[in-house]
Amino acid sequence: MHSTASDGALAPADLVALCAERGLDYMALTDHDTMDGVAEAADAARQAQIGLVPGCELSTRWRGVGIHVVALMPDGVRSPLTEGLEHQRRARIERAGVIAERLEKAGLHEALAKARAQAGSDRPLGRPDFARALVDDGLVKDFAEAFKRYLGSGKKGDVKAQWPEIDEVVGWIVDAGGVAVVAHPLRYGLTRRKRGQLLDTFVAAGGQAVELVSGQQNPDTTRDLARQLFERDLYASMGSDFHFPGGHAAPGSMSLVPRTGAPPIWQHPRLRRLQGLYSQET
Ligand code: AMP
Ligand code: MN
Repeated sequence: MHSTASDGALAPADLVALCAERGLDYMALTDHDTMDGVAEAADAARQAQIGLVPGCELSTRWRGVGIHVVALMPDGVRSPLTEGLEHQRRARIERAGVIAERLEKAGLHEALAKARAQAGSDRPLGRPDFARALVDDGLVKDFAEAFKRYLGSGKKGDVKAQWPEIDEVVGWIVDAGGVAVVAHPLRYGLTRRKRGQLLDTFVAAGGQAVELVSGQQNPDTTRDLARQLFERDLYASMGSDFHFPGGHAAPGSMSLVPRTGAPPIWQHPRLRRLQGLYSQET
């Protein structure tokens, strides 16, 4: 889930409160390329008696495709992920400049300043900030059209040259004591075969898990994806990818998971002890 530390609408403490209100026992805060929201979320989680898994969602590349990798960090941020996140911060700032240049050419004047105004804080910008600026300027009618025409996969504002290769990023996560998870594997427009090759690269780099369910999903699709996980001894994760209230998936609202051979991620040795850890803290 995302907070105002990246492109989410709720402050970390408000997101935690919403999750507690919705009856969740555990939640993961996984802002894009930063763990800046984790301290605030951890304080709120102790008060609300909900288990917080600190994390982030890292932007990477594989064969020129932008792939997101969720990092679940039970011990918080440590080296080499600390340095990795600093790299991502610089990459995101540089990338925002390139996106702005391209959108200026497409007719969005003062693109960087307008995206900054949409962000409403000094955090590094993301594509949603530019999407809102495009809507505000009347170049597109809504957020979805902004992605369809300008910012989505393969469009001129989909800039990813700055992101590191996936295996490097997986190395940061695993070496810092975390669990690396391929985020929403069905959203990259990959064929089943190519997705398998992505998972092979990911496993070879030390990656441990994949989001088996992200938001609402057809159970047949889920079973088929589960086979690709099972064949590679990958753990199964699930996530709402929550960004704002009123969107497609509220915290904890996900399709029920059909019975599959892939073990749930909380059985991973690096996460198993979370239960004790966080309940003792409250
Ligand atoms: P960024 O981290 O700057 O690459 O932006 C990624 C975010 O953009 C995602 O978390 C989504 O919220 C949003 N996004 C990406 N692709 C789309 C799309 N096709 N339609 C709507 N939102 C999208
Ligand atoms: Mn993502």
